[in-house]
Amino acid sequence: MVTPARASLMAAPVEGDWKALGDEATALLSQYLRINTTNPPGNEIAAARWLAEVLRREGIESQVFEPAPGKANLYARLAGDGTARPIVLLNHMDVVLASPEFWTVDPFGGVIKEGSVWGRGALDMKGEGIAQLMTMLILKRAKVQLKRDIIFLATSDEEIGAGVGAAWIAEQKPDLVRGAEFLLNEGGLTRAKTGGQAGGAVEFYGVGTTEKSPFWLDVTARGTAGHGSRPTPDNPVHRLIRALNRVAEWKTPLIVTPAVERSFRDLATIERDTTVRRWLSDIRAALRDSTAVRVLTSDLTYNALLRNTISITGLKGSNKTNVIPPVATAVVDVRLLPGQDPAAFLAEFVRIIGDTAVTVKPQGPNWPATESSTETEMFRAIADVARQRHPEALVTTMMLAGFTDSHYFRRMGIASYGLGPFPLTQADSRGVHGNDERVSIDALRSGVRFYYEVVSRVAARRPT
Ligand SMILES: [Zn+2]
Repeated sequence: MVTPARASLMAAPVEGDWKALGDEATALLSQYLRINTTNPPGNEIAAARWLAEVLRREGIESQVFEPAPGKANLYARLAGDGTARPIVLLNHMDVVLASPEFWTVDPFGGVIKEGSVWGRGALDMKGEGIAQLMTMLILKRAKVQLKRDIIFLATSDEEIGAGVGAAWIAEQKPDLVRGAEFLLNEGGLTRAKTGGQAGGAVEFYGVGTTEKSPFWLDVTARGTAGHGSRPTPDNPVHRLIRALNRVAEWKTPLIVTPAVERSFRDLATIERDTTVRRWLSDIRAALRDSTAVRVLTSDLTYNALLRNTISITGLKGSNKTNVIPPVATAVVDVRLLPGQDPAAFLAEFVRIIGDTAVTVKPQGPNWPATESSTETEMFRAIADVARQRHPEALVTTMMLAGFTDSHYFRRMGIASYGLGPFPLTQADSRGVHGNDERVSIDALRSGVRFYYEVVSRVAARRPT
């Protein structure tokens, strides 16, 4: 393994050290992006071995679990004095598919050019994984005295939504994180006004405190099979289409959750459009105004934050044009707001379908979403560090319309926060699951420092 230049530290980093630490993070990220962990199959074992080697060089031992061939979860721990409960730094090693024909560089080349590190995973979430890794290395090198253990947990299978990553940890190895007070993970956002530069203006820090929960459904219609030339009155494909049409027309009710009410009120303070500002500042009142409802729900993000959503995403009937099948099926992606009861939603869904020949079944385990409190030492530390760096920036909470692995840990009672350590413009964020995913070296350097400052503020015995 080629060793990237290592910043030597005698104590907690001072201003001048951050340039070298940023360069080191850049070199490490470039190496990490060259390990192809496209899931499926993931092959996270290669990434875990690499992380273990980087940690070992610094004298940090780690354990690599192999729950299935080629799959891995890595666990390492820096010991504190035990006077406060541990912090978990959670990151997933797998990435989604990249189609090289749409990229201007090799997505697994670890390319550094035009001031950025390019590659699948640079933003989601190998870059943040490196910020967490650097936090471990810096704490260790600087011999920072800790009151809390810091747990570094790199997992598989986040991108396929289940499998043998965080779910496996929660089910098979809960002792690894038991008793932890806080967890930091993806699922936050630092919105830069321009260019994603460390020195540039940051508009807001969005800290993830909750997320919607997926409630994926299989819809199955049954009827009489036959030859396509002799139509049957209960063709299951026709039945399914009629049922799905009722689902597609259904406008689920608008619901204001406390988390969304709070973040809209915060976002109102930086909204430029005066009408939208008024609506966001009092969303309950706005939703009684039909114009506001029309405008706000035409924004895909606002719409997803204000209701349980339904997307019909897959259909299957016969694979022969001239054969009426006995069964036709559809898959439906439902996302529920925090506080919603999956069973109650299912009953309503079945009522909308209104056909006893059509059955609806949840695909897998589901859970009611929960929220992590903002009244914690960790949330205050995140807000303090953010304001110190960008006094002009708003610090607010965020509800994700998608979901991360945080729910496994929130359900274990660990207050879990989504951080987006890198200042990104709206355009920068498009690389997530898209083409030419990259992070600027300035943003990376800034994010490494942000992570370290947050963790050391909460975990160091004396503030560093
Ligand atoms: Zn991710």
